Amino acid sequence: MWATLKFALFTILLILCALLLNGIGYHFDARTASVPVAPTVLIDPGHGGEDGGAVGINGCVEKNINLEISLILRDLLQMSGIDAVMTRSEDIMLYDSAAPGKKKAQDLKNRVMMAEELNAALTVSIHMNTYPSEKCSGAQVYYSPNTEESKTLAEGIRSSFINNLQPQNQRQTKEATSAIYLLHNIKTPAVLVECGFISNREEAQLLCDSSYQHKVALAIYSSIIEHLNKEV
Ligand SMILES: [Zn+2]
Repeated sequence: MWATLKFALFTILLILCALLLNGIGYHFDARTASVPVAPTVLIDPGHGGEDGGAVGINGCVEKNINLEISLILRDLLQMSGIDAVMTRSEDIMLYDSAAPGKKKAQDLKNRVMMAEELNAALTVSIHMNTYPSEKCSGAQVYYSPNTEESKTLAEGIRSSFINNLQPQNQRQTKEATSAIYLLHNIKTPAVLVECGFISNREEAQLLCDSSYQHKVALAIYSSIIEHLNKEV
């Protein structure tokens, strides 16, 4: 009698467990389960191909340093699960020789179009600065006037340069004028980082050095991550 009762209780318990699990399973709907979507960050190495950009005091060409730093930045972001896309990953200008319009105008338009088509969460354009005299040095960050978020990101990158690389840097972030086509025309959050002056001998040497390029990329990378974490 007692054995039969125990068996009955055990069976009821099993049925209750099955109903409970079934219930949980019923409420889990794979179609509504949220999967985090990686934000797209567009990295734009300035210039390329026929457009070398500035030439440094030591003979370095801006387009090459821009690309080297951008490739390191892309790898760092991709390793963090961010969808990092490049406007160019080789030494080219972005134009179609059959299309009307000057090469440079097409090139700049295509960079803006890429950001819009990707609906990039952020666009970071990488450049090197020059000045007629050797005295200027240090990074400077410009931001697009079209979104408030661009300024926040620019401030973050500026702080990261000061904290990690250039504690003496007094350069403030600047809102881009129409002279910076990309930032003036882009509708998604965007900044342009002038990583340093290749007209300054000491800084030009540093910017050509692979380990310093990694430090610059890391400074930008850490501020992008911090920014994306804040925005989520
Ligand atoms: Zn440039």
